[in-house]
Amino acid sequence: MNDHTHFLAELRRRGAVEIRRVVFRHNRTRLLSISKDRVTLNAHACFLSAPPEVLDAVARFVTADPRTAAHRRAVAALRAWPGVEAGLSAARAERPARSPARAAESSGSPEQRSFLRELYARLNASRFGGRLPGELPIRVSHRMARRLGQVRFAGESVSGRAAGAARGGAAPGPGAAAPAAGERRIQEIALSADLFLEGNDRELLDTMLHEMSHVEAFLLHGHRGHGAIWRTVARRVECEARACTRKRVRRRPRGTRAPGRVPANLL
Ligand SMILES: [Zn+2]
Repeated sequence: MNDHTHFLAELRRRGAVEIRRVVFRHNRTRLLSISKDRVTLNAHACFLSAPPEVLDAVARFVTADPRTAAHRRAVAALRAWPGVEAGLSAARAERPARSPARAAESSGSPEQRSFLRELYARLNASRFGGRLPGELPIRVSHRMARRLGQVRFAGESVSGRAAGAARGGAAPGPGAAAPAAGERRIQEIALSADLFLEGNDRELLDTMLHEMSHVEAFLLHGHRGHGAIWRTVARRVECEARACTRKRVRRRPRGTRAPGRVPANLL
């Protein structure tokens, strides 16, 4: 019996009988995931050397309902096993992260990008009545020092959402003429990478609604900034109708890596 078959047999012996296949991966962060059809377990290669009690936890991770305390205990037990950290570090050493310069220019992890695409589409349907474009470029910015998000209109002007009361969103200069409806386009929505930090999930949702309100106010009314038209939209979609949030938002310390996580339950 090779290691793979042995591992699978051990899991099935512990009750994870739906699993038919285990694929071992040298991931940098992800430990375990189950395929949609629940037949394949993707497991970090570190689990090939897992002792029996860690195999117990892997089996519980597979069999327990993710909403239960049993599942959370399984995750905690997995994380507590020293082999996990060793395995992840080894994978990171094998495949080093991109250079800081590249990272700064990147637009979030693939998971974050698909998460934001899906979030945008769902909010467009559920809160904006499908009024917004079906798709817009959405970027995760690693460089926003104070802002949480911004919309870039085709042209130059930007409406930003600042953290804290010290700074308002940048309004267009005086006399900026609104283009005719047919010419209005949105270049992109950008959100601060810090919104993906643990504890910021509500602010991530609120900032997305804030920026999407700018999209509607601009595309439908030629309105930029945080005036009455924008506030009406913001209130209708139930986000905080202010340029600067009054909530506390966690920021990462300067020079530290941006989080790669996505919220588990935002919708
Ligand atoms: Zn704004």
